Amino acid sequence: MLDLLLTNATLPDGRTGMSVAVQDGRIVEVAPGLAAPARETLDAGGCLLSPPFCDPHFHMDATLSYGLPRVNESGTLLEGIQVWGELKPQLKAQDMIDRALAYCDWAVARGLLAIRSHVDTSDPSLLPVQAMLEVRKRVAPYLDLQLVAFPQDGVLRTPGGADSLQRALDLGVDVVGGIPHFERTMAQGAESVKLLCEIAAARGKLVDMHCDESDDPLSRHIETLAFETQRLGLQGRVNGSHCTSMHSMDNYYVSKLLPLIAESGVSVVANPLINITLQGRHDTYPKRRGMTRVPELMAAGVNVAFGHDCVMDPWYGMGSGDMLEVAHMGLHVAQMTSQKGIRACFDAVTTNAAKVMHLQGYGIEPGCDASFVLLQARDVVEAIRLRANRLKVWRKGTLLAQTPEVEAQVHVAGRPARVTFSR
Ligand SMILES: [Zn+2]
Repeated sequence: MLDLLLTNATLPDGRTGMSVAVQDGRIVEVAPGLAAPARETLDAGGCLLSPPFCDPHFHMDATLSYGLPRVNESGTLLEGIQVWGELKPQLKAQDMIDRALAYCDWAVARGLLAIRSHVDTSDPSLLPVQAMLEVRKRVAPYLDLQLVAFPQDGVLRTPGGADSLQRALDLGVDVVGGIPHFERTMAQGAESVKLLCEIAAARGKLVDMHCDESDDPLSRHIETLAFETQRLGLQGRVNGSHCTSMHSMDNYYVSKLLPLIAESGVSVVANPLINITLQGRHDTYPKRRGMTRVPELMAAGVNVAFGHDCVMDPWYGMGSGDMLEVAHMGLHVAQMTSQKGIRACFDAVTTNAAKVMHLQGYGIEPGCDASFVLLQARDVVEAIRLRANRLKVWRKGTLLAQTPEVEAQVHVAGRPARVTFSR
């Protein structure tokens, strides 16, 4: 007997009337109109069943700290780093753990079951690292939390920066991070990329760097990152986060850069909510959007995913762990309004993000984990348009969260009274 049989579901690839059979936490069959004895059978009513949302770029150590110790009034990246610097000496491990666990509850409710979080390793105490390792352990039964050793103040710029980062990796942090555009000079930025990739190669770790999070068209650390990836044989194991300077780069240079990134197997994570908010702050009008060249990267064969980056922290006061909000903003900023473009934006917060994170057992196929989200939407286009309600969220066959169906009652004489915003 099956543990769970879902029927009449629509899948992200557009197949309708699909059944998904679950046994021992895994998907055993995906086919139209299955009928088999199951402990629980659920008619999805034609709603979209998606693999869980994945956030490939987040800052869990800073989340929900908005207003501590003060609000970022200018809204810039640099004032955000300054506010975070003021908060750091006051941070207590327990407060960070409590805030992170609260955020993970939000995430689960939103069907977001895998998060890659950068963790600041600049302070030799490694307090944020210790706190996030504890969080990773606590949430492991229900959420995949991947940690990146992130030298926020620059691995070379910070005295002892490389040593702190190495110790974070010794403690069990999963991925090597970096921030070359925040080092003192372009040359030091390039040197930091080389150093960090060599550390990753020596330790067999993945790499995920904040790369060129700037409006400066001459910030070209992504080029060094792609080159070092090839030199060290790290193809498929390296990600460049943000890459916002690419928005402002010369088109001829980009025509040479895109094939280099594709050949090196470096993936790119754009953070639409944050990029549209933080970039272009030095512009008058016209103001640049500042998000990297998402459709062009995708067309060149680069795996591109979207991250949330921040929720209620020194850099961004908005957000609630909703990756559909991220996809929605990405669609607008990149003008990915075609049907193909909208679907690509959905992939950017699901399958593409899972690929960046090297997640195993991900997808709605036989043999994959029975982890999925039932959305109050007919398809991926409607899911993004409505930032659709997550009716039910399962992980490995266990129901983790549910939200009642959302509908409004409209009291207008002679008009339909029930509104779900679905046509
Ligand atoms: Zn970030």
